Amino acid sequence: MQTEFGTVPDRCPICMEKDIKRNVNHDIERYSVACPVCGEYHIDRSPYLYGLDRPETKERAHELSGLIRERCEEARRATQGSSSRIRKRYRDMILHIKSLDPDKIDELLSGVPKTAKEKADRLLQALARNSKHPGAPVRIDPETDYPWAYTEGSRELKVYYLEHLLHRDLISKDGGQYVITVKGWERIEKLAESRAGSRIAFVAMSFDKKDPRLKGLYEEAISKGIKSAGYKPLLVSLEHHNEKICDRIVADIRKSRFLVADFTRHRQNVYFEAGFAMGLGMQVIWLCHKKDIAPRKVHFDTRQYNHIVWEEDKLAELQQRLKERIWATIGVGPIKPPTDS
Ligand SMILES: [Zn+2]
Repeated sequence: MQTEFGTVPDRCPICMEKDIKRNVNHDIERYSVACPVCGEYHIDRSPYLYGLDRPETKERAHELSGLIRERCEEARRATQGSSSRIRKRYRDMILHIKSLDPDKIDELLSGVPKTAKEKADRLLQALARNSKHPGAPVRIDPETDYPWAYTEGSRELKVYYLEHLLHRDLISKDGGQYVITVKGWERIEKLAESRAGSRIAFVAMSFDKKDPRLKGLYEEAISKGIKSAGYKPLLVSLEHHNEKICDRIVADIRKSRFLVADFTRHRQNVYFEAGFAMGLGMQVIWLCHKKDIAPRKVHFDTRQYNHIVWEEDKLAELQQRLKERIWATIGVGPIKPPTDS
């Protein structure tokens, strides 16, 4: 389709579905797509042109469909009852595909399920999301709902994942629809308690009271940023950091969904906690004060990561950027944010 801003594809640029609605006129930089498979999202023109035509990106298109669909449904649930302005802001933030460069797509898709077991769990969670109440049947159209199990198409969903959940008595069949069994709801509860469903964000940072730059960093920026993204910050108090890294910290990291690490002052405990979290396969969000990120200052192992660089007189900006980074890499948290953040 030719527009005054150039050509945009007639199909969903991610899953190639034909039956889509597009809104191409409101913005030069991006356009929006309502796709029955992927859901509603915005996409910059550049990733279509420079990302999705790469074979290594195309190979992961079904994972991208699964991620967008999941975020769409989560956003709908998270903003239920909120004003249309807040709903729109949520959507703009978490459903805007900005870049599909190979390194960006790795970051974006780092949390998608890989194993058959993980995919089956995600399908069960999707059924729960779309179930009006326990016991209510859910209609599945495999042709459009296959992203619920992050599969490449409808057949894998039908003949493998739905059969698998039926076989484990996690769902039952009700005519052409499916109902989550009591055993299924128990499994969903268990998943919510585990790390994948955790609402906790572990914070690793320096506690040096003599450094004036750190004053207000936690209260004004990190804690507020995490809360407004829908998660609960967990800061282990100073005394625990004076001991050897204790079991308590290890246990707290284990039960967290992700970790926010500030490398200002280069404390050893921050490197340890971030490294430990990465070893568990957790996502880490990297922060550092502008002066401490100077070349050669940040430990060589972390310089490759994309730090959010901050300054002490711009804590409100840091809060906003932290929230956006959390939404972009981890997704909207389960805790309803304050109404106007
Ligand atoms: Zn699509």
